[in-house]
Amino acid sequence: MSKARARRGAVVDRSSPDVQLSRAPEPGLLENLSLMSVSEQHNKGNRKGKCAPLAPGNSVPRGALENIGRLMKLGRAKNIVVIVGAGISTASGIPDFRTPGTGLYANLAKYDIPYPEAIFNIDYFSDNPQPFFSLAKELYPGNHRPNYVHYFIRMLHEKGLLLRLYTQNIDGLEKLCGIPAEKLVEAHGSFATAACHLCYTPYPAEEAKQEIMMGRVPICSFCAGAVKPNVVFFGEDLPQEYFQHTEDFPKADLLMIMGTSLKIEPFASLINTVKSSVPRLLLNRDVVGPFERRPLRRGDHVVLGDLSDSVQKLAEMLGWHTEIQDLMNHHENQPTQHTEASSNSSGEISDSFESDCMQ
Ligand SMILES: [Zn+2]
Repeated sequence: MSKARARRGAVVDRSSPDVQLSRAPEPGLLENLSLMSVSEQHNKGNRKGKCAPLAPGNSVPRGALENIGRLMKLGRAKNIVVIVGAGISTASGIPDFRTPGTGLYANLAKYDIPYPEAIFNIDYFSDNPQPFFSLAKELYPGNHRPNYVHYFIRMLHEKGLLLRLYTQNIDGLEKLCGIPAEKLVEAHGSFATAACHLCYTPYPAEEAKQEIMMGRVPICSFCAGAVKPNVVFFGEDLPQEYFQHTEDFPKADLLMIMGTSLKIEPFASLINTVKSSVPRLLLNRDVVGPFERRPLRRGDHVVLGDLSDSVQKLAEMLGWHTEIQDLMNHHENQPTQHTEASSNSSGEISDSFESDCMQ
């Protein structure tokens, strides 16, 4: 495993020809992002003149799904890398905590946090862990279930085509739908484990959850620092498993990018590390990242619109739709598996950094 390190939290600056990396996002920028609606972001992109206006539901180029479906049917995509963000969990009802007017956002107001993302800023947490715990308390219980998109990715695995799934989400739904741990990179961590945020001494995840649920701050027995679930905050290192990308991406023969704004580094740049001949399929509500540029790179395919609809269309082309539905029904109707899975993955929360752009 590589000794490389990467930190979460840099934001792609599209005004510069180079990708700008910074240790932490600028509060002002994030605040602006969080306050923008999807349509505003879309319009803004158009105003910059980077690309022709694209209406959701249109495919650019035409037949993008057909092209990828054909490729897969021909057996030319056997090492598929999938990258996902918050957009894949919206159909599971994962709430966007920053949307003004929602219960979650309202709950945060009493803490007078300087900007919504401060709740995931490690320095802010160090000074005041309560806002994060308040949010975690709201989102911990397993009220959400994987949706069709998650099961499509699981089917890629069942068919032996999934090289790896890289998720920016911390809702645990990938695990819950049965994608095995070795096929999954939870790049922004999860609630499955917990540790002291200062000395990293592990702390039993279930005990941490109980403390948080009771409104208490779990405390490290070694240094008395606040314990937090191993969700990667801005300014924190990504998990070591993330660095599998250095081996995975050069091996990929198809890259699928779903439900992500591609605005958060290092994910935003990762998609450029596949070979230039490798097809890249963007399934998203809006056109993002390098897919905004015209002309598209040879082999790039964009399908805009409702993600679940697009994924189902692709599944139908592949002849997998019924199989996925059966798998989903079977898996979702196994009560024992629910209990087991819930206690393993321990909680669901929106990938909040992604969700402003995708929800
Ligand atoms: Zn400690």
